[in-house]
Amino acid sequence: MKRDFAVIGLGRFGGSICRELSLEGMSVLAIDINETKVNEFKNIVTHAVIADATDEATLKDLGVNNIDHVIVGIGDNIQASILTTVMLSDFGIKKITVKAQDDYHERILKKIGAHQVVHPERDMGKRIAHSIISNNILDYLELSDEHSIFEVKASQKMIGKTLEQLAIRAKYGCNVVAIKQGDEINVSPGAQLKIAANDILIIIGSDKDLSRFEKHLVVDD
Ligand code: ADP
Repeated sequence: MKRDFAVIGLGRFGGSICRELSLEGMSVLAIDINETKVNEFKNIVTHAVIADATDEATLKDLGVNNIDHVIVGIGDNIQASILTTVMLSDFGIKKITVKAQDDYHERILKKIGAHQVVHPERDMGKRIAHSIISNNILDYLELSDEHSIFEVKASQKMIGKTLEQLAIRAKYGCNVVAIKQGDEINVSPGAQLKIAANDILIIIGSDKDLSRFEKHLVVDD
C-alpha cells in the first residue's frame, strides 16, 4: 500500500526514516531548513524542499496539512520541534511522530498532540544494555513506561524443559506470547511445549517482572 509521509528535519533520525520509507516505495515529502541537507535527499525522496517548518503558511503551501503521517525529526531546536508539532496537531494530522531530545521534551510533545514520541538514543541505549547483560536477549521493545516485550534466545536453563516446568507466568508474572522454532512461529504455545536449543521466546510483562525473569532464567551462569 502506498501512503503519504512528510519528514521534517533531515538529521540522522529524519534522514534514516526518509531513506527507509523511500526504499519501501512510499512517497515522502522531505523538509529541512538547511539547503545542504535538502540537496542530499533530492534524489532519494519524492520531493525535498527547503523550508522553515515553524512557518504555518509555508507548511500549508507545501500541502503538509493533507498528509496522513508526519514525522518530526527536528533535533536540538526544541522550540522549533514544539511549534511544528502544535501546528501539525492544529491541522488535524492523523498521525504525528516526533523525536524527543529528553524526558521533559517528551512530556510536552505528548501534551500538545504528538501521537507517538520516540527517543532513539535512550531506546537504543536500553536495548544495547540488555544485550550486554545477556547474549540471549535479541531484542527489546518498550510498550509503555512500565511494560516491555523481550525477544529471548532459549538459555541453557530453559532447554529441554516444558513451559509448564518453567512456570514463567507463575514465577515471574510474564507471559510467553509466541515461540519461534526455525521458520515456524507458534503464537499460542501450550504448556507442554518443550523448549529446544535456538528457540526464540517472545515475552511480555512489566519491566519489574521481566527484570526478575532476565536475572533468573535468561542469563546463563
Ligand atoms: P539528529 O540528532 O537526528 O541528527 P539534528 O538535530 O542533527 O538531528 O537534525 C535536525 C534537522 O532539523 C537539521 O537538519 C536541521 O536543519 C533541521 N531543522 C531544524 N530546525 C528546523 C526548522 N525550523 N524547520 C525545518 N528543519 C529544521
